[in-house]
Amino acid sequence: MADTAKPAIGYDDTPIIPGSCWRVHDSKRPQPRVVVPGTFSTQESIGVPPSDAIVLFDGRDLANWVGKDGGAAEWKVENGCMEVVPGKGDIRTKAEFGDCQLHLEWSAPTVVKGESQGRGNSGVFMMGLYEIQVLDCYQNLTYADGTTGALYGQSPPLVNACRAPGLWQTYDLIWIAPRFAGDRLLSPAYVTLFFNGVLLHLMKDVQGTTQHRKTTEYKAHAPVGPLKLQDHRDLVRFRNIWYRPLTAYDQTAPA
Ligand code: MG
Repeated sequence: MADTAKPAIGYDDTPIIPGSCWRVHDSKRPQPRVVVPGTFSTQESIGVPPSDAIVLFDGRDLANWVGKDGGAAEWKVENGCMEVVPGKGDIRTKAEFGDCQLHLEWSAPTVVKGESQGRGNSGVFMMGLYEIQVLDCYQNLTYADGTTGALYGQSPPLVNACRAPGLWQTYDLIWIAPRFAGDRLLSPAYVTLFFNGVLLHLMKDVQGTTQHRKTTEYKAHAPVGPLKLQDHRDLVRFRNIWYRPLTAYDQTAPA
């Protein structure tokens, strides 16, 4: 009779790892989920999200977005990207989410006009409240806590890694939502942000909702919220927007 038993993949006689309920190399420890990785975008082509990503904008339409007062999102969609239509207002996703890995790409207008905060200004508002600045800071000085990738009005990025306007730029961020118990803040939000593959923030704590010319604080809110993109009256474009909810690796005890 053929031996069909699979070879052992681990051990059942090793010590328990401190702080866990699993043995070292535990054969019964749950496997990580399988995710098919996507591809990265280039200046010429748009990448493909990983298999478990929730796509917020795939280049075709704004079906996943709403505009002013919850009405239709009225930004322009063309050539696989969306573009701010000045005066049409911010747009936000219908989807609401908390802790996540977020990917998006943006491009400042090729025709450079304005300076400081007036050049290619938009913004990525996590949970609709906390702005990661989008701005063309390629050879464009502005106040440090308002530069590209800044937690606006709070924390400048570690570096300025801007590409020239007109080129595609990439944000990959990890967002940990703030935790509240009733009206009380238990822990702030934290941001880790890569810009064009360069680290701008590492688990940077967020002080509160985004303000202009004021300090800030938290106001308790739901554990999820929409992603909002800002109409700052500049012709900023976006493409390839997706997120993956962060779910804890299964740490439940063996049966
Ligand atoms: Mg902005």
